[in-house]
Amino acid sequence: MPFEFYFFLGSAFILGAVIGSFLNVCIYRIPAGESIVSPRSRCPKCGSGINWYQNIPILSYLLLGGKCASCKVHIPLRYPMVEALTGLLFVIVIYLFGFSWATPVYWLFTASLVAITFIDLDHQIIPDVISLPGIVIGFACSFGIPWVSWTDSILGILIGGGSLFLVAFLYEILTKKEGMGGGDIKLLAMLGAFLGWQAVLPIVFISSFLGSLVGVPLMLLKKADGKLAIPFGPFLAAGALIFLFWGRDLIRWYLSFFVT
Ligand SMILES: [Zn+2]
Repeated sequence: MPFEFYFFLGSAFILGAVIGSFLNVCIYRIPAGESIVSPRSRCPKCGSGINWYQNIPILSYLLLGGKCASCKVHIPLRYPMVEALTGLLFVIVIYLFGFSWATPVYWLFTASLVAITFIDLDHQIIPDVISLPGIVIGFACSFGIPWVSWTDSILGILIGGGSLFLVAFLYEILTKKEGMGGGDIKLLAMLGAFLGWQAVLPIVFISSFLGSLVGVPLMLLKKADGKLAIPFGPFLAAGALIFLFWGRDLIRWYLSFFVT
């Protein structure tokens, strides 16, 4: 591969890591209802401000040895992990979609999924301030994506929101317990907006499969009664990314069992 290619992949990683650093702020502040723009980042323990050179994604964590420069409090490993993860996702997106409109659209999409995943893991909520604008932006972006028409997007919103609503409704009738949160429904509507209705069923399949891979051992370990607070949002996000990156290959592979 030519040198320029690696240069662009490297630049995408750095951009993703910088966005990931911003996502750490969003993950921390959005559930608390705080502004994500001001004030500047501070150490949550000693309150001392964080300089630009202490705020370089991944590198600063390594240089500071994972500690606050002033009070030496331990900084969770999750911060650089979120930065590295976002960088990696940005690299995969530009590798697959190159220099097209799809790349910035899917950068935005993957970044919002990273924020949703970690907020849901921390608080078991998917903030409306991400998912609802996400539905509108996903629909607007469908006009720039050749393989998702605006009708695909509208149907994706309806089927995405509707199908999970139906599942949640049936679950409540059958078990008389509230299973799926309204946040998951709005998230699946957002996924449908970005990826089109064709993505909805595969995403539900993939995320349920991943969810049972993680959830069943957890339930056995904790000997829970089947009602365990495992947020579903991260699995939906993972399902959406798998569909975005390898969806067409997966569908072809799946169909190969039926069409020979
Ligand atoms: Zn500190």
